[in-house]
Amino acid sequence: MSEQLRLMAVHAHPDDESSKGAATMARYAAEGVRVLVATCTGGERGSVLNPKMDRPEVQADITNIRRAEMAKAREILGVEQAWLGFVDSGLPEGDPLPPLPEGCFGLMDPVEAAVPLVELMREFRPHVVTTYDETGGYPHPDHIMCHKVSMAAFEAAGDPERYPELGAPWQPLKLYYNSGWTRARMLALHEGMLAAGLESPYAEMLEKAEDRPGRGDRGPRITTRVECGEYFKVRDDALRAHATQVDPDGFWFHIPLEIQQRVWPTEDFELVRTLVDSPVPESDLFAGIRESLPAR
Ligand SMILES: [Zn+2]
Repeated sequence: MSEQLRLMAVHAHPDDESSKGAATMARYAAEGVRVLVATCTGGERGSVLNPKMDRPEVQADITNIRRAEMAKAREILGVEQAWLGFVDSGLPEGDPLPPLPEGCFGLMDPVEAAVPLVELMREFRPHVVTTYDETGGYPHPDHIMCHKVSMAAFEAAGDPERYPELGAPWQPLKLYYNSGWTRARMLALHEGMLAAGLESPYAEMLEKAEDRPGRGDRGPRITTRVECGEYFKVRDDALRAHATQVDPDGFWFHIPLEIQQRVWPTEDFELVRTLVDSPVPESDLFAGIRESLPAR
């Protein structure tokens, strides 16, 4: 038997896996790749963002409800999932920002917090790992810590000197950052909506981006575009499974799938570490790896 390809996606909260790289995961899973989502926190400080779910009994049982939502999303995407067991920091709001709650993920020492992820990497033995860039993709302390912990674990998992008690070393071969909202993608969707005679929800966002040219736009850093338009519906279904976190009438779902599939049928990534030869641009997270494994 030849070796099966394995992909690990590290995310901060339950629901993040369904909005960042979800269609890519669904596609790889459908193609026979083993896909594991590692969820850093339980999402227990997430606000209820769906008006229909904002009820006292939901708030009171939020931890269990979010676990059940995650189980449903995992099934829809066709992936495996593991909890790393950290406590959600919540998104601090106000001026000045309040301190983070004691014991939360955002306050952890990344070397210490890498322990469960190193252990999981050595157990699951992923060829490819995805995570967030150093800004977290958006400035949530858990997203920034998710980046730090992923980098620390990627460097340590293959080193027999590090964490020897956590199992046999395993070195993943490639590490990617999820690329989210680039200006080019927003503009393409905006124009796609206008061309279809629909109102674009991006007008204001594009104007804001105009005010600060170049800032925060990681479009030029993209190395890898994975075709996955066929799985956008699966992605949206998984996202809707996180019913407390996602308003089914919200912004996310305003762009007809047909337009998304036509104007931007890929999910995009930045290749930041590779131990194999894989010239960029590329269209497959496993480029350079498939070739080196025995034929399936
Ligand atoms: Zn999150």
